[in-house]
Amino acid sequence: MKDSILVINCGSSSLKFAILANAGQETLVEGIAERLGSDESSITFKFEGQKNIIQLEDGSHKNAVAHIKNWLSSHPIIESSLAGIGHRVVHGGENFSESALINQNVIDSIKECAQFAPLHNPAHAKGMEVAFELFPGLPQVAVFDTAFHQTLAPEQYLYPIPMHFYRENHFRKYGFHGTSYRYISQRLAQIAKGSDQQGVLVAHLGNGASTCAINKGLSSDTSMGITPLEGLMMGTRSGSLDPSLLSFISQAENISADAALDILNKKSGLLGVSEISNDCRTLEEAMESGDPRAKLALDMFAARTAKHLASVATTLESIDHLVFTGGIGENSSYLRQVICNHLKALNIGINSTLNENAPRGETINISSDSSNTNVWIIPTNEELMIALDTISLIQH
Ligand code: AMP
Repeated sequence: MKDSILVINCGSSSLKFAILANAGQETLVEGIAERLGSDESSITFKFEGQKNIIQLEDGSHKNAVAHIKNWLSSHPIIESSLAGIGHRVVHGGENFSESALINQNVIDSIKECAQFAPLHNPAHAKGMEVAFELFPGLPQVAVFDTAFHQTLAPEQYLYPIPMHFYRENHFRKYGFHGTSYRYISQRLAQIAKGSDQQGVLVAHLGNGASTCAINKGLSSDTSMGITPLEGLMMGTRSGSLDPSLLSFISQAENISADAALDILNKKSGLLGVSEISNDCRTLEEAMESGDPRAKLALDMFAARTAKHLASVATTLESIDHLVFTGGIGENSSYLRQVICNHLKALNIGINSTLNENAPRGETINISSDSSNTNVWIIPTNEELMIALDTISLIQH
């Protein structure tokens, strides 16, 4: 039966992929092509518990997809089960409020949004063109990180700058991690009946991190903006700060505004403050061995996450649920605890024993008895969402 979906997440120098079967419930094979565009590119396949790394003789995106096709020809049962391809797309601008069956117009619209995601959108468009060339018979679907946030009201998505920048240049908040938030909202509705009619806060905390308020199933505010730089402090991104700093940094270092922006995107956040690493796990280990810089970076991360949770909560009528997800949200009991300590005024509290002993990879309620809000850990699953959207759109 044809029900497998090839999920592709095509970045500028990497291409992650997975083939999901059985309505997205089963991952048959997954992998990543890395360092594309360089002489040292490789592609890794993880299949039946084995990892196989192949050096790529030509580090183009096309060659990476060609290797996936080759792999499929030597696994004909999986090849014949393929029903379609789903692509993750970072920026859909105002053109896409839901996933879309890909045709040339869709590819052109994705290229149009490239001004706001110059590293990602051209790579996504390339991935789609290459996939059409190598898998000519297969329908393809685009799933956008921004789409879920198209329900924000103008007072939330507009920046208080002259309106012609919105009218002529489309400068506004778009928000990201939408596929993860949509998954969490649907998953929560399965385990907490009625939550799709309530107020939900979600902290998606990974190397990129953001918060979202979901009012009756719809995104009502989110911390990221026109790009994923706004909002929380992240692995290497500063998050929100006084925009004057951009000019001060470029003067202090005698560099252009773009180079200063690069510092805010790539050298700030956990990495910039700790001067050790952008990786939460590494910083927790450093903190445990007594490094005060690691503790300061983690505590700043927690304080700013709490602030941005409280901020997006202003669009809700009540805070019935708070969900932690993403690599950090799912795994760091320290950060969950400190974040919730900052939310005491909102009457949000967690049970520290449940928090510390939360089993990895499972959905669990960690609220304290006195908390007004149900606090959850829910592992996110963006690939599943992409596979399900693909199945649903290709069946129409
Ligand atoms: P993501 O971008 O969602 O894959 O998340 C990556 C982040 O999750 C990195 O900062 C990791 O250090 C962090 N992370 C993963 N596992 C753990 C863990 N067990 N404890 C603390 N942080 C973790």
